[in-house]
Amino acid sequence: MQYDHILIRYGEMALKGKNRKQFILKLQENIQHKLKEFPDAKVKRTQGRMFVLLNGHEAEPIIDKCRKIFGIQSLSPAIKVENEVEAVKAAALYALESGENINTFKVSVKRIDKEFPIASQEMNQVLGGHLLANTEGYSVDVHQPDMEIKVEIRMEATYITSRVIPGLGGLPVGTAGKSLLLLSGGIDSPVAGYLAMKRGVQIEAIHFHSPPFTSERAKQKVLDLAEQLTDFGRTVKVHIVPFTKLQQEIFREMPEGYAMTIMRRMMMRISEKVCEQESILSMTTGENLGQVASQTMESMHTINEVTNYPIIRPLIAMDKHEIIDISKQIGTYETSILPYEDCCTIFVPKSPKTRPTREKVNQFEGQKDFSHLIDEAVAGIETIKLDDKKKQLNDMDDLF
Ligand code: ATP
Ligand code: MG
Repeated sequence: MQYDHILIRYGEMALKGKNRKQFILKLQENIQHKLKEFPDAKVKRTQGRMFVLLNGHEAEPIIDKCRKIFGIQSLSPAIKVENEVEAVKAAALYALESGENINTFKVSVKRIDKEFPIASQEMNQVLGGHLLANTEGYSVDVHQPDMEIKVEIRMEATYITSRVIPGLGGLPVGTAGKSLLLLSGGIDSPVAGYLAMKRGVQIEAIHFHSPPFTSERAKQKVLDLAEQLTDFGRTVKVHIVPFTKLQQEIFREMPEGYAMTIMRRMMMRISEKVCEQESILSMTTGENLGQVASQTMESMHTINEVTNYPIIRPLIAMDKHEIIDISKQIGTYETSILPYEDCCTIFVPKSPKTRPTREKVNQFEGQKDFSHLIDEAVAGIETIKLDDKKKQLNDMDDLF
């Protein structure tokens, strides 16, 4: 006897019809993809449930993988037996005896197959009695048991579980379209990407890079962050934009107090062009209201003028410590705090306007034609595809 399955519970029961079907199929596909290194593990669906058939693989490494997949509410190692009383008794006994530090237990039977001869309540007693009679030192506690042995008698088989491991929740990545994540090397934007992914969004990243003012290491840091995000999705394409010329021109030609705002507008314009090329319908940023000069209401109003793409700002109302907590949980924090400069920290005006107006900025931008520099930046984009196998793919056709 052994735990030969992992039961996957998915939430979002509110999803209906076509959405729900798409959700389930995508979740199955995402799990199967994540388990590539376990060739015999198979992901199966039954009515309202999903299972991983372990086929001889260890449960724990597979559970660890599944804990990083959005769309899973919780997981349980499960024993599958036939709908037959003696078999269920034996499995329940195995579950109890293989638990560690267990003194009290409770049995919860759910009978879905009404052809099974014993009703749920009565089966609780049958199993409880069997366990007490065949073991020593255990007692029943229906309120706060050390172990709850759940028995689901379904049409096709009975599943016995004794442990519930929380999943990440959310929606399977790939069910909510794509968004272009403006990824800096900071703490916030990787967290924003993670939260967008949590709602089922597939991320592509764009990074503005200003060599030689920003180093190769700063670029590598951003690639490392993007690679860390692939843990929660599958692949992340990173578009590296050569931003030096445009940035220098802005800081040379535009009034210093407005350069930051104008630079942000340029980022938006370039991002929009990438969205068009890649058929992406929204952008995601790590903006957080009030944090710095570029994130006041006035700044956002002025920066946002240049695009009518929806901008997802998952962090907008969070406190910094909440953002830091998430970045630690998802493993990006240590990389984010590495000290390599980013283009925004190098070209920092001494006193950026915290309340830039659209009128003023349009007036300044109108004095200079930046369009060829924007086109040049877009033409110079280097695109790197990262996947969750911790390697960069040079052969673009491998994955898409
Ligand atoms: P982060 O921690 O994500 O760097 P921040 O608190 O430093 O954010 P800002 O520097 O004002 O805030 O940047 C706001 C957002 O603009 C970032 O979260 C990111 O989405 C985007 N951004 C900033 N710099 C870059 C860059 N060099 N490349 C791509 N996106 C950027
Ligand atoms: Mg930053």
